[in-house]
Amino acid sequence: MHGGTIAVVGGSIAGCAAALAAHRGGATHITVYERAAGRLADRGAGLGVHNARYAELASAGYMDADMPWIQLSRRRWYTRDGGTPLGRPVGELPFPFRTYNWGPLWRELRDRMPPTTVFRGDSPVRTVETSADGAVVHLEDGTTHHADLVVGADGYRSAVRGAAFPDVRPAYAGYLAWRGAFPAERLAALDGPAGAWPVEDCVFAVFPGGHAVIYRIPDGYGGHRANWVLYTVPPPELDLGLDTPTSLPPGTLGEALHAHFAQVTGELLPPYWGGLLQLTRPEELFIQPMYDFTAPRYAAGRLLLTGDAATVARPHTGSGAVKALQDATALEAACADAGNWAEAAAAYDASRGPIGSSMMELGRRLGDALVLRSPDWRTVGQTDLDALWAGADAGAFGGRALSGRALSKAPGTERTTQG
Ligand SMILES: Cc1cc2nc3c(=O)[nH]c(=O)nc-3n(C[C@H](O)[C@H](O)[C@H](O)COP(=O)(O)OP(=O)(O)OC[C@H]3O[C@@H](n4cnc5c(N)ncnc54)[C@H](O)[C@@H]3O)c2cc1C
Repeated sequence: MHGGTIAVVGGSIAGCAAALAAHRGGATHITVYERAAGRLADRGAGLGVHNARYAELASAGYMDADMPWIQLSRRRWYTRDGGTPLGRPVGELPFPFRTYNWGPLWRELRDRMPPTTVFRGDSPVRTVETSADGAVVHLEDGTTHHADLVVGADGYRSAVRGAAFPDVRPAYAGYLAWRGAFPAERLAALDGPAGAWPVEDCVFAVFPGGHAVIYRIPDGYGGHRANWVLYTVPPPELDLGLDTPTSLPPGTLGEALHAHFAQVTGELLPPYWGGLLQLTRPEELFIQPMYDFTAPRYAAGRLLLTGDAATVARPHTGSGAVKALQDATALEAACADAGNWAEAAAAYDASRGPIGSSMMELGRRLGDALVLRSPDWRTVGQTDLDALWAGADAGAFGGRALSGRALSKAPGTERTTQG
């Protein structure tokens, strides 16, 4: 597909990686259309990457070894037990994950885009459509642009997916993911035993109907941030109107939601872990209501889907950014190998579609096991925890292994820079 024109809609993790993939796959004219003006605003929150998935993505040239990261090794599970600060230890599971800060990860990918790629910020796309010899991108400013292939990397409310599969709609799962991340220096204010939270520990603090996942991430400047996600089912009287996909950014949570957060952290979590979450300032808290879906295919004619635009699996899977980067490796291989655009689209779809479905299903199983049908944690010990996790996980936690052509195609870590 040498010399082709590829339009990428969305310039976040999936979009920057797709542009890099298109370049390595042989396209010469690549334009990224991003709704936001300037550099994307960093929320300072983190993500985890399974060690084995990192190794594949680094070898494929989509993750840089120099990016700041923290190595975790185990998950320690606690549940509230009277006034014990840390709670009762439920058990321990391995956690071979590296943690990253979203901001440096995005900036690194953005800086790796080849200088020939045009990154157009402040360029919201209204819609896209296929044409006789490719696809057309219609911008909100009224201009239209032709491409051989359009890659939809425009997130869970994707306009490209809307054009390709208008019936696919994210389904609300019935619970919320609260998120926060703050400088680790604030931890000094916490009352608790010395050495309560070793750096290599990811903590699962579980309670009936939800849990908190807590781990450190790099701050990007040599220090750490305490990063957490809290899953709760909101009280029914809180009519949040979440059937239409939405998120609640920092600074937009009302009084009732803050009261729900205070109740969960003060009464359901063990005191130390509840206290840790409460160190997050109200204006730093944000909520991602849980939605999931997967598009029936990753390609429709000349329209391709990647990242969250194609599949959103609930974050229990620990695989959102990994899947977006893996999608890019498959796009690169499909473009490099295909004899024509239809072949490239079909190869990409065949390689990534089944992964999307399996990750969405994994997210549903873990959501059921840990939130919607969580066990009576007071009676759960190591053996039950092993059985619970084995029953839900099926070996895909952290993302499916990258295989075949996408992996063997690894071009190394060529690096170009652009401001
Ligand atoms: C600013 C920002 C900060 C984030 N911070 C974190 C974080 O701290 N931790 C974490 O785990 N995850 C974070 N995420 C989410 C995470 O990036 C994704 O869930 C995952 O990496 C998959 O990314 P994605 O690129 O598929 O989708 P997204 O990251 O959702 O990106 C979609 C992009 O498409 C753009 N877009 C949407 N519609 C249009 C349109 N019509 N025209 C043009 N552009 C459009 C959006 O502005 C956005 O940049 C963040 C996302 C964003 C956008």
